Amino acid sequence: MSKVQDCLKIEIFANTSYRKCECCGRPKDIYFRFNVKDADTASMLVGSFELCKDCGQQIGAILGIEASIEHVVKEFTFG
Ligand SMILES: [Zn+2]
Repeated sequence: MSKVQDCLKIEIFANTSYRKCECCGRPKDIYFRFNVKDADTASMLVGSFELCKDCGQQIGAILGIEASIEHVVKEFTFG
C-alpha cells in the first residue's frame, strides 16, 4: 500500500471561498484542502493547506491522488 495515498489526502470543499491559496499565494477560489497525516500511522492530522483549483489539481496529478472538481462545478449557478 502506498504511503503517499495514506498520508496525503485532497478534500474538496462543498462551497468554494475566495481567499489566498497557500501554494501559489494568489487570492483565488479555494477548492481543495490538502491534508497531511503522520507518516507512521496515517491516522493523525499533521496539518493542511488550502489550495486553489490549479494548485490542487497539480498536486493531485503529481502525487497520483484524487483531486476532481467535476461535481463541485456543476452545482453552482450565481445570479
Ligand atoms: Zn494556488
